[in-house]
Amino acid sequence: MAKDYYKILGVDRNATKEEIQRAFRQLAKKYHPDANPDNRKEAEEKFKEISEAYEVLSDDNKRRMYDQTGTVDFGGGRQDFTWQDFTHFDDFSDLRDIFENIFGSFGSSTFFGGFRNTGPNLDMAIEVPVTLRDVYTGSKKEVRYRRNATCEACHGTGSATGRLVTCSRCNGTGQERIVQGQGFFRMVSVTVCRDCGGRGQVPEKVCTRCGGSGAVPQTETLEVSIPRGAPDGLRLRVRSKGQSYQGRTGDLYIVLRVSEDGSVKRVGDDLYVDLEVSFPEAALGAEKEVDVFGQKVQVKIPPGTQPNENIRLKGLGMPHLNSRGSGDLYVTVRLTVPKHLTQRQRELLEEFMGEQPHKKHSWIRG
Ligand SMILES: [Zn+2]
Ligand SMILES: [Zn+2]
Repeated sequence: MAKDYYKILGVDRNATKEEIQRAFRQLAKKYHPDANPDNRKEAEEKFKEISEAYEVLSDDNKRRMYDQTGTVDFGGGRQDFTWQDFTHFDDFSDLRDIFENIFGSFGSSTFFGGFRNTGPNLDMAIEVPVTLRDVYTGSKKEVRYRRNATCEACHGTGSATGRLVTCSRCNGTGQERIVQGQGFFRMVSVTVCRDCGGRGQVPEKVCTRCGGSGAVPQTETLEVSIPRGAPDGLRLRVRSKGQSYQGRTGDLYIVLRVSEDGSVKRVGDDLYVDLEVSFPEAALGAEKEVDVFGQKVQVKIPPGTQPNENIRLKGLGMPHLNSRGSGDLYVTVRLTVPKHLTQRQRELLEEFMGEQPHKKHSWIRG
């Protein structure tokens, strides 16, 4: 048995998938090149080794084959593991920083979505929770997130000298041919050059700060203005605040997640708020106040207002996102009935009942 994958991950021979994943995650953090600045190369080798072990042990077929024969076929009878064989990036999206760091220093980033000939997709999106009140008043929010930002040491070139030279693996084409299979049955596939990641050029002298990727992980703090009237899911684009890689930088998309705000409901740009109104107020009419996101709004209750009636206050709703004006505010009348009455109130109400026209003397006429 060439390599003991179980030993590499430090797990039992009958370890579960969960245990294998946990072991990998722990070791991946341990062998993060950033955590091992003095023996970076060694850490990278270790990282590749545990990735190979994970690739085999997390796959039922590969694991069975390995358990039975002590070897693994990575395709076409090939037994040596390359990064192209690693298919589990999705299991570890939380470790993405580490992988990108590793591939940056290998000079190859063909692995994450979009990392093809066209170059990596460097845009990124983060969700920012805001309240209905935030989008009503148009507040500012501080946003913190992690990204790979341009390496200051090499100005994003990945080269300590700032100069790039033609990649010797692909002679500057950015592509390499991989031949798989044996005998007559060969498959030639063209893939992105693993040394230069399709750029055709490599750093003259690899920048030690970023390992050649031209980018280093860092935490960013942004102040975001929440546009008034923003709907849930609105995307705000912040230019050049996405991922950096080899001198290019993508955009950041801030996706607003607007949550409900207690007493105020939103329907399009209209707002709905409840108001408690007593029976005499509804019957006789009244001037009342309703609270809308901390602002007092005057409401006129017309005489004869019915329970659950909506009183419309034009133009006092949510501001329109991209045009002047606002939706409407609807005040929903919630009629309250007193649970306790004073003697005097009781007498008045009884007297009032006797005054109801359709009951009055109706039995006399018969
Ligand atoms: Zn190349
Ligand atoms: Zn650098």
